[in-house]
Amino acid sequence: MRTIARFDNQFEAHLVKGLLENEQIPVLLVGQHFFEAQYRYVFALGEIRLRVPADYLAEAQQVLKAYHQGEYEEALIQELGIEKHTCNLCGGNTFKRVGSGILGVLGALLQVYFFSLVLSYPKYEVCNSCGNKTRIN
Ligand SMILES: [Zn+2]
Repeated sequence: MRTIARFDNQFEAHLVKGLLENEQIPVLLVGQHFFEAQYRYVFALGEIRLRVPADYLAEAQQVLKAYHQGEYEEALIQELGIEKHTCNLCGGNTFKRVGSGILGVLGALLQVYFFSLVLSYPKYEVCNSCGNKTRIN
């Protein structure tokens, strides 16, 4: 078995697992249960590792590449007829998500130490074409 991807959230790990299994590629997720038991140690323990048999390595990497290039997202958008999210300023359609700097760090620390306290701190997306920063929650 070879590790072909690492994830810091269960949602994406299971999404990619499903994509690979749909192509008949056997998949093993390692470390996913740390998220439920001890989230604080997940990064120290190597995140969630997605592993495939060595014989399926090339095929799995093609699926991963298509996923990262947005091919599945594009197909879903077309299939469902969803209007594509674009930048208000330039019409660009690729973004990167960013946290809110020190506020995000403080919010995350407070959530760790006051576990039941649910805080919402701002997150932003930055347009890859023009750098326009928009709050997204
Ligand atoms: Zn833009």
